[in-house]
Amino acid sequence: MDAVSLARRPCALTLDLDDTLWPVWPAIERAEAVLHDWLKAHAPATAAAFDTAALRAVREAVGREHPEQAHDLSWLRQTSIARALTHSGEDPALAEPAFALFMDHRQRVDLFPEVVEALARLSAAFPVLALTNGNADLGRIGLGDHFVGTLGARSFGVGKPHAAFFHAACAQLGCAPDEVLHIGDDWALDIEGAHAAGLHSAWVCRTPGAQRPAGAQARPWRVVADLAALADALDGLPR
Ligand SMILES: [Mg+2]
Repeated sequence: MDAVSLARRPCALTLDLDDTLWPVWPAIERAEAVLHDWLKAHAPATAAAFDTAALRAVREAVGREHPEQAHDLSWLRQTSIARALTHSGEDPALAEPAFALFMDHRQRVDLFPEVVEALARLSAAFPVLALTNGNADLGRIGLGDHFVGTLGARSFGVGKPHAAFFHAACAQLGCAPDEVLHIGDDWALDIEGAHAAGLHSAWVCRTPGAQRPAGAQARPWRVVADLAALADALDGLPR
């Protein structure tokens, strides 16, 4: 794979969270199961009418009906719970505590094995800003000390791959886009998004042998199997 050169150390790093630092779907699935158990106790008609797959279908339907809320996964999730409650004749206000419980469990992620040590190396050498379309909470996950902050699509109003989101991250870091290295797992959101916004990128590709998609425009600086390999590559750059 071609790679653009990164002649000097970047001014700062922006780092994706979900599926870069932890696999997100196991945590979401566990949170959905806990949510369903809670509904059995507090909203039994809803729990009976909507299993976890049906609740997810409602969540996806709400997303299709509200593309203007695509940046706010929390709104989509809580609104979908309220809709299921209303459909079942139960109190839609229960969506608030139900969502709080979901969020608590959504933060219970299993980090990829190298992440704690690699993040310590990266954050000792660079300012690291989390750049996420999701609703992970680094403080609750216990990684907050490694980051200078989080820029989330929910608060900003649009997320990756929009260039404005990347540019806001650079402004927050006080760096020009071409001085920033964005790191993430998602080709379209992270790598093409960073490329279009003028940032360098590193693709964290944990699937051996994965290829960039046909027609891909971006050329990441590095394709790495994990964050330890990325920290090694950054160590090799001239100061
Ligand atoms: Mg990701």
